[in-house]
Amino acid sequence: MVTSAEIGVIGGSGFYSLLDDAQEIELSTPYGPPSDVVTVGRIGSRSVAFIPRHGRDHRFPPHHIPYRANLWALRSLGVRQVLAPSAVGSLRAELGPGAIVVPDQLVDRTSGRPQTYYDEGGAVHVSFADPYCPSGRAVAVESARAAGWNTVDGGTLVVIEGPRFSTRAESRWFAGNGWTIVGMTGFPEAVLARELALCYTSLSLVTDLDAGVETGEGVTHDEVLEFFARNVTRMRTLVAEAVEALPSERGCPCGAALDGIKLPFELP
Ligand SMILES: [Zn+2]
Repeated sequence: MVTSAEIGVIGGSGFYSLLDDAQEIELSTPYGPPSDVVTVGRIGSRSVAFIPRHGRDHRFPPHHIPYRANLWALRSLGVRQVLAPSAVGSLRAELGPGAIVVPDQLVDRTSGRPQTYYDEGGAVHVSFADPYCPSGRAVAVESARAAGWNTVDGGTLVVIEGPRFSTRAESRWFAGNGWTIVGMTGFPEAVLARELALCYTSLSLVTDLDAGVETGEGVTHDEVLEFFARNVTRMRTLVAEAVEALPSERGCPCGAALDGIKLPFELP
């Protein structure tokens, strides 16, 4: 029976069948319950905890996901490395549906989401210059390429508040800045992981072209869901392969994110 996990996956409900010997663990955190019960099990020799980001029944829209509870729950189970598959829109015409982007930069265009654990008891300023784990990124890129995906190593993920999609003007502005993809959940997930000294890697599946680069009527919710559904099995295989390829000893800087900083509470 697996009751702790070294690797966390936060993704769509299509990822449930990833895990062998799975069992559900109900957790509470100082930030309320996570999106759903956490499923803990194995992928090959690795112990993995899975949280469906939007809840099993998809009840949380991007701006209401309990991001702090999700990352806290994972860390309290022993997780130190997190893989975060998600659906994104592309800001580049040549990067169409079916591409996997493993971003190395992030732009936060969200507003009003709780984005820190360190609200009181003194300021805690973590470095976020490089928001993603370098070794997790390398593993994700290698796994995606090996599986034959059109893979982009690096790029900038713009996280918008949603739940609406971008206007054409916003989308052209993002593209004009040289940014690569647009999503609604990559922030504050990434910074909360950093605030808990976790490794965090985004595996962004392009499901559509964003409003500023496509030439039709703009993306619909149904189109995004339909495309994602068709690719769920393939994504699940990719995440499983990436999980098995993650290092068992961390050699990246992520675990030292809080070194020398006085924390107002103990981490789980
Ligand atoms: Zn790392």
